[in-house]
Amino acid sequence: MILKEAIEQLRAGLTGLAEPQEVQAMIRIICEDVFNYDPVDVALRQESELPDFAPERIADIIERLRRHEPLQYIVGHALFHGHKFKVNPSVLIPRPETEQLVDLIIDENPASDLHVLDMGTGSGCIAISLARALKFAQVDALDVSRDALVVARENAAALKVKVRFFESDMLAPQPAARYDIIVSNPPYVCWSERETMESNVKDYEPGQALFVPDNDPLLFYKSIAPYAMQSLEPGGRLYLEINQRFGNEVKRLLEGCGLDEVRIIDDSYGKVRFAAATKP
Ligand code: GLN
Repeated sequence: MILKEAIEQLRAGLTGLAEPQEVQAMIRIICEDVFNYDPVDVALRQESELPDFAPERIADIIERLRRHEPLQYIVGHALFHGHKFKVNPSVLIPRPETEQLVDLIIDENPASDLHVLDMGTGSGCIAISLARALKFAQVDALDVSRDALVVARENAAALKVKVRFFESDMLAPQPAARYDIIVSNPPYVCWSERETMESNVKDYEPGQALFVPDNDPLLFYKSIAPYAMQSLEPGGRLYLEINQRFGNEVKRLLEGCGLDEVRIIDDSYGKVRFAAATKP
């Protein structure tokens, strides 16, 4: 099988599954990650012979994509903040919105030697991106899932940063520490919202990282906010990703815990998506 035939087989198999532009993007990722052909190679080497495993691998990828398995799990990684992160079904696939949270923190915190904590780190994408971008930061990250921590540690090693990872439940109080920045993208989707989600999310991504009970949608923030009050240095900042439905409620909660300068911030799609606050 030559490259041109592989691309035709993929296009035929994936058409109708997504917008043509997205199908094109998927094909580009598959060529690059499975066959090691970057877009320039693809343009120049249409006639080159692929390894023997190609037809079977392509058929398998098409079948899995048609069952709505996320491409990032099939190829084993996702791009986030300019870096390739390993992902598997024990961690959420990093979202573009969360890149904005990382950028916000980088923009607002130019100082060096900051101590940072990421609560519910998953793949480690926030912690590792901050460790790479902030000057001489010391970054800690915790997660309740041992399987997620295996992925996060691998990502930190592959991206050559030192992050200290801890297995810990953000709902159980941890001993207070001293941080300049605490960040979290905790589970915040209500179970009742599950039905409206795409099957690639609800059937494949870890529910433990996504969902909260309808009767307690701020569950994680109720634990994170008091912990931030205890553990942030005066003037230290808390940054959160939040459910667009609960901006006002999160603001009230943070203010109620004694945090100052509480802001609710939109993402680039114009949806309420982040909260930030300062410890007095
Ligand atoms: N933004 C994610 C989604 O819509 C949810 C992430 C989370 O629950 N922290 O799938």
